[in-house]
Amino acid sequence: MSKIESAAEKMKQLLIDLSPMIEEYTARVCPDCRDVCCKQRHGIMNEQDMRCASALKSPLPVYDPGRPLDGACQFMGPYGCENPRWLRPWRCTSYFCEALLAAMNDGPQKKSRRVSALIQEIVDIRNGW
Ligand code: SF4
Ligand code: SF4
Repeated sequence: MSKIESAAEKMKQLLIDLSPMIEEYTARVCPDCRDVCCKQRHGIMNEQDMRCASALKSPLPVYDPGRPLDGACQFMGPYGCENPRWLRPWRCTSYFCEALLAAMNDGPQKKSRRVSALIQEIVDIRNGW
């Protein structure tokens, strides 16, 4: 396995571990949101996201060119994003709106520290590429 493949595998596992922790917060705040952040433009991978998906030998998402970039993301389903977190653009995970940050601050600090630590580990891997 190449260096980039093992880094991508490590990052995938970190995102799998992180996802349910973030979902505890999003389940609390997103249903009442009046300005949902999941717009089509945000669901499109950048070069680094694509490099990671390729290293995981995952097919890249196919984007609908007919969708308005400021309209709802094509991957948004009735129960949230239909793609696993490791196959979403990093910005989808790294963006914390004010409501999400407030939920983190109000919740157990041990948990929010764990979330921050996992995010930092992922950032370190991405910065190392
Ligand atoms: S993360 Fe924040 S901005 Fe995005 S849908 Fe949830 S509450 Fe709204
Ligand atoms: S989290 Fe999913 S639905 Fe939301 S913008 Fe990202 S890819 Fe689209």
